[in-house]
Amino acid sequence: MEQSRLTRRLVKRFVAGHSLAEALAVCRRLKGEGILSTLDYLGENVASAAEAAESAEKAREAIRLIRDNGLPATISIKLTQFGLDISEEECRGNVTKAVEAARAAGTQVEVDMESSEYVDRTLDLVRRLHGEYGNVRAVIQAYLYRSEQDVRQLCRERVPVRLCKGAYLEPAGVAFPEKTRVDGNYRKLMRILLEEGAVPALATHDEALLVEAGLIVKELGLKPEQYEFQMLYGVRRRLQRRLVEEGHRLRLYVPYGEAWYPYFMRRLAERPANVVFLVRQLAGG
Ligand SMILES: Cc1cc2nc3c(=O)[nH]c(=O)nc-3n(C[C@H](O)[C@H](O)[C@H](O)COP(=O)(O)OP(=O)(O)OC[C@H]3O[C@@H](n4cnc5c(N)ncnc54)[C@H](O)[C@@H]3O)c2cc1C
Repeated sequence: MEQSRLTRRLVKRFVAGHSLAEALAVCRRLKGEGILSTLDYLGENVASAAEAAESAEKAREAIRLIRDNGLPATISIKLTQFGLDISEEECRGNVTKAVEAARAAGTQVEVDMESSEYVDRTLDLVRRLHGEYGNVRAVIQAYLYRSEQDVRQLCRERVPVRLCKGAYLEPAGVAFPEKTRVDGNYRKLMRILLEEGAVPALATHDEALLVEAGLIVKELGLKPEQYEFQMLYGVRRRLQRRLVEEGHRLRLYVPYGEAWYPYFMRRLAERPANVVFLVRQLAGG
């Protein structure tokens, strides 16, 4: 989708650029600031096998350049970008190629979690690939009722987990409708992960949760390499700096590419102030 001049400024805040070269430049700058990154080539729910194969090729290209540039970066992918809606088998083949390339380059593939209809298929594939290659991270969303069970299972299997609150509109049958209950579940799951998980990644910008995580880290005597915090590129930059200054490991999710629209809309939905900013910009030019 073509970017209008009016939205460009806000999109630019959340998206590192159209090209991989721009995204790599961001990762290099972050490296200089002591921040790790995870590169996300934007795209989801592709409609053809050719597009899915192209996503896999883009992932391999990113991995090659992460290695060649010596960047402390992983890649993040979505299974619907790799063809899950078209054929599970093709999707598995595409993801396996990316995971193999990542392993050869000494990095990881983080498999984003999409809406609830994909959770079982996503976790099945992550488990299988982690068992085979050992360099895959699962994502768990604290808003789902099922997540405690999933977290406990993944901890038992030593699959690394990224914990987030969840970004999709879900029915009350599968997800807590109240934000306070989502936050409460996040709190509970982050303790389980810090106590029992394999290098958990706590992905949130919620300062209260981050403070609490810091206290648990102290209580358990964890070293910085035993966990990491993750945040989105462009969100709460001062808080990002503070975490690094306090000695925590921080990884930023760095999206790039042309298919920015769904990602951008989820970022707008997370914070009313973003919408107000956009409306003002549209009104005032
Ligand atoms: C590294 C990373 C990876 C993620 N991967 C996934 C995934 O695979 N699947 C998935 O469903 N979701 C994913 N998410 C999104 C996540 O589920 C939440 O939607 C998002 O992080 C907002 O929740 P929060 O934990 O920051 O808490 P919130 O309570 O929503 O926000 C806490 C505070 O952070 C600030 N903030 C939060 N979001 C924004 C924003 N967009 N713009 C400006 N300020 C903001 C605000 O000050 C807000 O008060 C990911 C998030 C991160 C950080």
